[in-house]
Amino acid sequence: MNAMPQRPSPPKLAGSRVVVVGARASGLAMVRFLLSRHASVVLTDVRRLEDLGPAVAELARAGARLELGKHESATFAGADLVAVSPGVPLSIEPIALARRRGVRVVGEIELASWFLQGILIGITGTNGKSTTTALTAHLLSGAGLRATACGNIGLPLTDLIPRDAPDHYYVIELSSFQLEAVDTFRPWIAALLNLAPDHQDRYDSPVSYYQAKTRIFRNQGAADHSLLNRDDPEVWGLARTLKSRLHPFSRAREVEDGACLRGDRIVVLSGGREIRAIPLAKVPLYGAHNLDNVMTALLIADLCGVPLPRAERALASFRGLPHRLEKVRDLDGVAFFNDSKATNVAATITSLQSFPGRVVLILGGKDKGGDFTQLVPLVRARVTHLVLMGKARDTIAGQIGSAAPATKVVTMAEAVEAARSRAPRGGVVLLAPGCASYDQYSGFEERGEDFRRLVLALQPVAP
Ligand code: ADP
Repeated sequence: MNAMPQRPSPPKLAGSRVVVVGARASGLAMVRFLLSRHASVVLTDVRRLEDLGPAVAELARAGARLELGKHESATFAGADLVAVSPGVPLSIEPIALARRRGVRVVGEIELASWFLQGILIGITGTNGKSTTTALTAHLLSGAGLRATACGNIGLPLTDLIPRDAPDHYYVIELSSFQLEAVDTFRPWIAALLNLAPDHQDRYDSPVSYYQAKTRIFRNQGAADHSLLNRDDPEVWGLARTLKSRLHPFSRAREVEDGACLRGDRIVVLSGGREIRAIPLAKVPLYGAHNLDNVMTALLIADLCGVPLPRAERALASFRGLPHRLEKVRDLDGVAFFNDSKATNVAATITSLQSFPGRVVLILGGKDKGGDFTQLVPLVRARVTHLVLMGKARDTIAGQIGSAAPATKVVTMAEAVEAARSRAPRGGVVLLAPGCASYDQYSGFEERGEDFRRLVLALQPVAP
């Protein structure tokens, strides 16, 4: 394997004053870690203790000072370090103030990376991060390497510090919010799957969102590797700016040092020479977009020295993640798919492209400012009926209601009922909402589970 780059030595935490902002999973993980290193920790959140749950009170007993219901400017200004959870925008005034006073402000990924000796692999993009992260960790573990899927997928990197070892592979899913707050973080391998407008409720333009994503590469050098989607002009446009070794992947064209499709195989190439090939029939996931995720994971496995037969076997045993184009059941000649994780318009487009036609599409939820008119050509070509649910139903109807017959509903139960009654035989009911779920659910998982439960409860029509 290639020589790992040296990391800068971490700052001394014992006795230093650290403010942790945001009391969700990453914030709590940082507090636990910082206390274990004898830092003097303040945990602050605009929510109050009664809204935060027992873990916060426990950390107070363990020695953290709590500042809840508000942020105190003086606390930020007097800190040695401010460590911010990804859910908190860096633009809030107390953070800006700390910066003006010369206080270092970092995110959880940055903080954790200072203390890890293991091998850092970062995966980002607008869509496909979790699937690629889980699949990559699955391929590496399947080859007997110590690999953990972590980061945005639901396991804070900081929680892994106590079990760190130089041969541990950290496959880190990175959101734009996490990447905004990195500074020296330097992954040995960094992959960018795609870029499409998202989170326009937090960023002032798609460009500032893309800039956050591209911070994944900023500290990489010639000993590092970058994996870029050759077919995405926004991603590929970065190629000439990178210092690391470039490995494009493409579904549409040949590449020299990367991965592409040849006939019915995925091939990995080095210097134009095929070094591994896997039949497409071995890919256990639906949808052409998943080939990008598989090519990325296979390239990473190759860079980590995983032998091809092992990678092939592990790929075949990968079950995919729930709520990502997950087939729930066939009923009366209709296939029901749960893609609750399609929370932006780009993901809905990808999802729809997985089916040739006869789709009843369920859209809606909490609008994130997405441009649904982008769906019009695909809806015209492939969708027989639209079911528009939740808070965003009128907005979406206003934008695309004329592209196909549409029914407006509020709840998921109504949506499933309406979709089922409209679905043609041999067709598909697809939940790919293109919106966040927070109008009615705690997250996309709860929404997907509700859909699955309702679909599984449907009775077949009597023959
Ligand atoms: P993320 O963690 O980036 O949200 P997921 O793997 O959870 O990504 O997939 C989210 C949704 O994005 C899926 O439900 C699917 O519709 C879509 N998707 C998955 N992989 C890709 C890809 N490579 N390109 C485009 N869309 C994708």
